Amino acid sequence: MNLILLGPPGAGKGTQASRLMKERGLVQLSTGDMLRAAVAAGTPVGLQAKAVMEAGELVSDEIVSGLIGERLDELGPDTPVIFDGYPRTAAQAEALDALLAARGRTLDHVIELEVDEDALVERITGRFTCANCGEGYHDRFKLPKADGVCDVCGASNFKRRADDNEATVRQRMAEYRAKTAPIIPHYEGRGIVARVDGMASMDAVAAAIDAVLGA
Ligand code: ADP
Ligand code: ADP
Ligand code: ZN
Repeated sequence: MNLILLGPPGAGKGTQASRLMKERGLVQLSTGDMLRAAVAAGTPVGLQAKAVMEAGELVSDEIVSGLIGERLDELGPDTPVIFDGYPRTAAQAEALDALLAARGRTLDHVIELEVDEDALVERITGRFTCANCGEGYHDRFKLPKADGVCDVCGASNFKRRADDNEATVRQRMAEYRAKTAPIIPHYEGRGIVARVDGMASMDAVAAAIDAVLGA
């Protein structure tokens, strides 16, 4: 199974992808996570991407499609994957078609998380993750069960993204509207697009996605 999760920043893509990874063994391919790792490691890609990401703009199509191609090759042909935050432009959607075709993979579902933009600023500015295992949390919607202790791994260090501030989020939303939402028709004709209400609770969103994916 190969699946794309689409939606603006804060829609819940990462939350749902990491759940699907735990529950169904799908592998999450997040270009955002790959780019942040490259920035942290100071690789040539990271050096090119850092300022672009801090401004809430899009990193070049060649860089992100290159990262996805590398990861697909590492995984081999049979591992089911979730594309999280990729593709984000028409050029990336075309590149992904070619990357999949060359590896004998097909896309089964494109799930769009529909959200109200006003709520996204609150989602994004309240977002934090465990610095040790990456589990995602939220100041209001998902606090750790024990104050200051990660539910999953017990660590007590958390981090927030440099680009999770209101000004950058607004720019990221504008990029989504202008460049990413227009790629949905690319998949519509194939009958694989499903829309899920991303404003529902995390569990309700999970149930709606599971209904699309089937047993
Ligand atoms: P994305 O990967 O699409 O940018 P995330 O999955 O990181 O979004 O979610 C953004 C923030 O909102 C996180 O702090 C997450 O815990 C929280 N969140 C995710 N889904 C929901 C939901 N359905 N309701 C409320 N908060 C949510
Ligand atoms: P979010 O979870 O808020 O949707 P991501 O973690 O997916 O954000 O992306 C963070 C930043 O990384 C983006 O604002 C952009 O600068 C860069 N980025 C991630 N994926 C892509 C992509 N497919 N194409 C171009 N830029 C990307
Ligand atoms: Zn943890």
